[in-house]
Amino acid sequence: MQANFKVEKNNMPKQKPDEKSLGFGQYFTDHMFVMDYTEGKGWHDPRIVPYGDIALDPATMVLHYGQAIFEGLKAYKSDEGKILLFRPEKNMERVNISNERLCIPPIDVDLTVEAIKAIVEMDSDWVPSAEDTSLYIRPFIISTDPFLGVRPSFTYKFMIILSPVGAYYPEGINPVKIYVENNYVRAVKGGVGYAKTPGNYAASLKAQMEAQAKGYTQVLWLDGLEKRYIEEVGTMNVFFKIDGEVITPTLEDGSILGGITRESTIQLLRHWGVKVTERRISIEEIYQAHEDQKLEEAFGTGTAAVISPIGELNWNEKIIKINDGKTGELSKKIYETITGIQYGKVKDEFGWIQEV
Ligand SMILES: *Cc1c(COP(=O)(O)O)cnc(C)c1O
Repeated sequence: MQANFKVEKNNMPKQKPDEKSLGFGQYFTDHMFVMDYTEGKGWHDPRIVPYGDIALDPATMVLHYGQAIFEGLKAYKSDEGKILLFRPEKNMERVNISNERLCIPPIDVDLTVEAIKAIVEMDSDWVPSAEDTSLYIRPFIISTDPFLGVRPSFTYKFMIILSPVGAYYPEGINPVKIYVENNYVRAVKGGVGYAKTPGNYAASLKAQMEAQAKGYTQVLWLDGLEKRYIEEVGTMNVFFKIDGEVITPTLEDGSILGGITRESTIQLLRHWGVKVTERRISIEEIYQAHEDQKLEEAFGTGTAAVISPIGELNWNEKIIKINDGKTGELSKKIYETITGIQYGKVKDEFGWIQEV
């Protein structure tokens, strides 16, 4: 596959880290994928080169106005040594959703999926094999005109870097404590909430820091207008199981990032015959359901953790425990099924897996 792209091999490969202490996003492989965009010429020069620094003019637009997008997905090694990708075309389709919002020219989905396969194949020795480890794949685009005027850039760089990462749950899947954020907002209707763009992350840091100082892992984001409707949990989508029905916030308002784990979870639950509803859901409704003893489970979904159960919520110092602070049955079943499919242990009935 990598024959399609020009390859400059790294003649000084690094020593690989110990698979037991990978953590997240600390180590990078020997190569990276790069492709450039120039107005009039389009995307050009797709290539694999040694991993390394990139030189940028200090006036480079991305450094000043943040016109950029990114993605995140993983490559998994099966017991037979195959390297598997989970719905990579969905990530590349989402690049174009983000690009459209950020005035970045669209990419070719098929070509960039091939680029992911080529760079992962090139550095396939870096895909760890210890249980629940994986190779994190970070595609991203930056605007590169050296210019301080405010307008979309005429030039861009698309890159893919790779990082071997450890198990998200080295001690087993565990519920977290969540602080319901009443002051700061992550995104608003009409803003860039549905785009995977760095500014959303910069905007979220202060709330995360304050929640952590109070002893909470993350915040539950409410809508920016009424501070009532639930949007996301940290950088994950959020689900609640109430009286047998699973409810997740609707994407209609454009302030929520449409996760691929979210979409897969909905598909899986419907396949199992569980009722799933996408609608607005308020924090009052969650507290009322808890009072009525109908709030059964709550969890976040995202590529990094797959499922992150919520064991406790603090809203205005009113603290509730969900499922006695333990991981719910359905949360566990979704986690085991999706990770099972990702590692090739559970039959992929949905056509989600692509082999590198
Ligand atoms: C990436 C992301 C998610 C999760 O998306 P996945 O495709 O499931 O990994 C959810 N919310 C935000 C804000 C994100 O950036």
